[in-house]
Amino acid sequence: MAPDTLLLAAPRGFCAGVDRAVLIVEKALEAYGAPVYVRHEIVHNTHVVESLRRRGAVFVEDETTVPEGSIMVFSAHGSPPEAFENSRRLDHVLIDATCPLVTKVHHEARRYARDGKHIVLVGHEGHQEVVGTMGQARDAITLVETPEDVDGLALDPDVEIAYITQTTLSMDETASVVDRLRQRFPMLEQPKSDDICYATQNRQDAVKVLAQRCDLILVVGSSTSSNSKRLVEVSRDRGVPSYLIDDATGIDAAWLEGVGTVGLTSGASAPEEVVEGVIAWFRARSEIVVDTVMVVDEDVEFAMPSVLARRLRELSGQDADSDAGSDADDDSGSDEDASDGVPVDLPR
Ligand code: SF4
Repeated sequence: MAPDTLLLAAPRGFCAGVDRAVLIVEKALEAYGAPVYVRHEIVHNTHVVESLRRRGAVFVEDETTVPEGSIMVFSAHGSPPEAFENSRRLDHVLIDATCPLVTKVHHEARRYARDGKHIVLVGHEGHQEVVGTMGQARDAITLVETPEDVDGLALDPDVEIAYITQTTLSMDETASVVDRLRQRFPMLEQPKSDDICYATQNRQDAVKVLAQRCDLILVVGSSTSSNSKRLVEVSRDRGVPSYLIDDATGIDAAWLEGVGTVGLTSGASAPEEVVEGVIAWFRARSEIVVDTVMVVDEDVEFAMPSVLARRLRELSGQDADSDAGSDADDDSGSDEDASDGVPVDLPR
């Protein structure tokens, strides 16, 4: 028997940081023409990357391979300071698409390091965001992933310890790691607000609600997307089978045997048209009721980097000296807390 109900999570899909990063590449192509080089996948989604590649974006892992004077966009996940330095040395027109919420974590890392604290970063080894964050204070950061990693930490007992986290972790798992940190280091210092971002939290909260009503949850997202993989884990942790699919072609009909209600959500880097393709896949097979489960309404936007906003104003014949409506991140990769243009009251 085919499923009779499809419940859509809200919120799902693009977050403000991804929305901004994709728009930055699109606008850079418009303002400067192809090629626009992008360091690393702009966001972790194969559909988004392929679509931008077709329009003239060239994705590279190493900024030093990009010709002098080229247009160079840095991805939403953040990059280590030396990557910015390399790009400046090559006279690139540097456009920083790092999500402001990742930049906030970079600020915390540099501040703690300046204050002489040792930083424990909770995150996944090798993830692009972790690489960028560790680069902010390389000698003062130790990465942990699990409570067991915390047990194995061999830190100088006289050194003050602070922790920060990757923005896209599972809230539940991170809490268990932080609890263990607190047991071992009672004086542990923590950031003023959570590093796990509002979009990660909201998408996980929505899956928790879906899990109470669904027999199966499908998550649209790429296997490189940390926040998408966490959504699958959140569902499975609640005893509801869950699968990550890049698009409708990834659905295995065998998963649906005996399933009445399917939940559908998407990671913060997955485009809505892919979700629509999945809905169409279900509708093409049987009559199905499609409903939305709204958990929280999101209303977050980030401004364009000033270098790009200025260029777009020049092209439209507006006053290029006015910086209204843009952030002040020309000084990307700087270690001055006040200069990266991160709003003080960031959304959580
Ligand atoms: S998931 Fe969060 S930190 Fe990452 S780009 Fe989106 S808003 Fe920014």
